Amino acid sequence: MYISEEIRWAAKYPFDSRSKELLELIAYDVSEYTEDDLRFLLDKAYERASKALDHKYRIIWDNDYQEVVTFYLALLIIRGVEEDYIYRVFSDTEARRAYDLLREEEDKNILSIANNLGFKVEVEKDGRFRLSYIEFIKVSRELSAIHWKLYNFKVEAGRVYLNKRNLARLCSQRIKEVIYEMIKNIPSVPEFILSYSNRLRKDKEKMLRKIERYDFSDMGEELFPPCIKWLMDRIGGGLSHPGRFTLVTFLHRIGYNTEDIINVFRRVPDFNERLTRYQVEHILGMKGSRIEYSVPSCKKIKSYGFCFPDENCRYIRHPLQYLIKLKKRERHD
Ligand code: SF4
Repeated sequence: MYISEEIRWAAKYPFDSRSKELLELIAYDVSEYTEDDLRFLLDKAYERASKALDHKYRIIWDNDYQEVVTFYLALLIIRGVEEDYIYRVFSDTEARRAYDLLREEEDKNILSIANNLGFKVEVEKDGRFRLSYIEFIKVSRELSAIHWKLYNFKVEAGRVYLNKRNLARLCSQRIKEVIYEMIKNIPSVPEFILSYSNRLRKDKEKMLRKIERYDFSDMGEELFPPCIKWLMDRIGGGLSHPGRFTLVTFLHRIGYNTEDIINVFRRVPDFNERLTRYQVEHILGMKGSRIEYSVPSCKKIKSYGFCFPDENCRYIRHPLQYLIKLKKRERHD
């Protein structure tokens, strides 16, 4: 492949392993982007990061080289904000951008991305893709739309049949995790980049205030939503994986640290501290995939079978909204 084609590829899919190798060859040292003739790339990266936080992205651009470099500089700017929520929104928008590009991609290219993301995909003669049942379940469980239920797909000999659009969507789900990891793994951000990060934090103050406005740490178990109370009541009998997952992510989100969560599980008669710690740390992203999962939505919890709504559940779509509702009521009382 010619270098111009490689740069084109990296501009489209900067998170791909192939692109990372290329970047090492073509990029300058980060500090050089403060020089007068390169500083405009930092401004462009800032614009990319800022727009991504408003869920905006572009799929047409003039200069492939600039497109690649602004992605990497934007990662640094985002990392400097030091806010997990911001990392997630940025990763999500960039994954959507990749999805739009992948849908238009030739089969061999989408296959290359899928394989580099760790999927073992095979192609049928009629152009359909096949993915192992296990891999499909692993990645599609994060997708709540009903058409991602396994019964909507042809399954044969442990393989799930997918069209190009399906495969692109699964890839984008994985891409979101890859980009999030890229941000989290940046060990430190140079001082001159931090000035962009601080500006971004200021520009998005309203967005950040929205997530910081509520402190749930003073909310006792009696105020928990019915689904969570139901899980708490059943800890003693052991919980299913979705049950444990929902409870751990919820408790963590409202301010419980790892030890607090492990203490909650001490109510289990055959409590095994080592195993519980292992499971909790995995769910909180401290071990294994290092992905910090979010609390599932009400729709998801309903599909797990432990949604038992009460009057405060009206018009809410997320268990945290239940607590916000109570908080708001408390303020008005
Ligand atoms: S509506 Fe939501 S918050 Fe209420 S019980 Fe169901 S899942 Fe929980």
